[in-house]
Amino acid sequence: MNITLTDPSILRTQCYVNGEFVGTGQAPVANPATGELLAHVPAFGSDEAIAAVEAAAMAFKSWSLRLAKDRANILRRWFDLIVAHRDDLALILTSEQGKPLAEAKGEIDYAASYIEFYAEEAKRIAGETLPSHRSDGRILVLRQASGVVAAITPWNFPAAMITRKVGPAMAAGCTVVLKPAGETPLTALALAGLAHRAGVPAGVLNVITGAPAPIGEVLTSHPAVRVVSFTGSTAVGKQLMRQSAGTVKKVALELGGNAPFIVFDDADLDAAVEGAIISKFRNGGQTCVCTNRIYVQRAIADDFTSRLAAAVTKLAVGDGRSADVQMGPLINEKAIDKVEAHIANAVELGARVVVGGRRHALGRTFFEPTLLSGVTDDMTVAKEETFGPLAPVFVFDDENDVVGRANDTEFGLAAYLYSRDIGRIFRVGEALEYGMVGVNSGLISSELAPFGGIKESGNSREGSHHGIDEFVEKKYLFLAGL
Ligand code: NAD
Repeated sequence: MNITLTDPSILRTQCYVNGEFVGTGQAPVANPATGELLAHVPAFGSDEAIAAVEAAAMAFKSWSLRLAKDRANILRRWFDLIVAHRDDLALILTSEQGKPLAEAKGEIDYAASYIEFYAEEAKRIAGETLPSHRSDGRILVLRQASGVVAAITPWNFPAAMITRKVGPAMAAGCTVVLKPAGETPLTALALAGLAHRAGVPAGVLNVITGAPAPIGEVLTSHPAVRVVSFTGSTAVGKQLMRQSAGTVKKVALELGGNAPFIVFDDADLDAAVEGAIISKFRNGGQTCVCTNRIYVQRAIADDFTSRLAAAVTKLAVGDGRSADVQMGPLINEKAIDKVEAHIANAVELGARVVVGGRRHALGRTFFEPTLLSGVTDDMTVAKEETFGPLAPVFVFDDENDVVGRANDTEFGLAAYLYSRDIGRIFRVGEALEYGMVGVNSGLISSELAPFGGIKESGNSREGSHHGIDEFVEKKYLFLAGL
């Protein structure tokens, strides 16, 4: 395998079930930049998924009863090992996902921050005492671990989307069966190896790779699974929600987006350009909070567009493992087709290509960072998540108009606005129907904040003390005086 690591033992190609590495490699994992085969991982199905759920159910009995401090210490050791192996983990991540190494290191830090935060939070999962309906009685509200959690994660953040679920779940006392994306299992298995070294007891964390549908079928129907925590596309999220209805599981969904990025005429344009570049082109445009539609007020539209064009032109595209590369490949050629289709549709309906617009000279999975002007609401790019390096600029005239257009989508994950008018910031910030609004910032993700969407972007919050809520049940004891 062509990944040269400082500690080669962190690379794992077997699944992790009940504290053991099991299975043999059948499903290929490739580098999206080169097509080079990296490894084979097991292609597990229903039987192995059932075994993993049973291991997690067995481990739940003791893990949920451990002192919070014990769970915290184990999570803390896992955090320390992730940090110690940051560079190796980043190289594995870039090799299977494609993002530039600097971004991959940033993702490992970000992923680790959830384990650190929830190691601390484990000790603060407090209940409450409520006023009682009887003067001799007391109502004691407990927050108890829900049970086995099924976590299903996407390829675009192969480390962070895992720790954002597994950290709070394990802190609360839940046990986990994780199915990472087929494109990026190596990061997940490396994290599992470090969890093992950190002393996570057998069965508390299980990682299985393989066929999504049969594994998903088990995870959404097995009675021992109490929470299905999913990050990925809206279509699959809806399907898992339907499948989970039979056993009335809690379903926590982090789904797709269609983020508006609104630049008012009083904005700091340099800051807005910087924010647009970060929120649009980070990870090659493959983040769920990616800017999908840039709305610019008419008076500054030309100025903003030419400044943004200059910044887009400078983006260095290449293999993420090379120094100085700012944008890597897309995950596969299907992703390239989608970007191309969005551009073709926009141009046909009257948009103009300002920068880029074509497949990159590097071929295969590479696409030129692209800027379109003259984009209108009837174009596909206004309605669908592109998930690629395409920045379309729309023009607007007034505040009410742009808020209405920004909200005119079934999605509601992230939105961004740039203005220096505090009244406008509150008005627009509160009127935007989104779970997260970045004001004068193109980066909003942090372990300290409750990440999540509304409408068809999801129903869950990950990060901050709110992230624990997905993994605990409230139970009350009514204590009557005798
Ligand atoms: P996807 O829905 O195709 O896959 C996500 C995961 O679901 C993968 O592990 C996949 O193997 C699995 N899966 C697919 N079909 C399944 C089935 N029938 N049963 C069980 N599991 C199944 O999404 P993707 O292409 O990997 O990720 C991109 C999408 O994820 C985008 O829409 C993006 O916006 C979204 N996303 C959302 C967030 C968020 O926090 N809201 C974060 C990252 C990505």
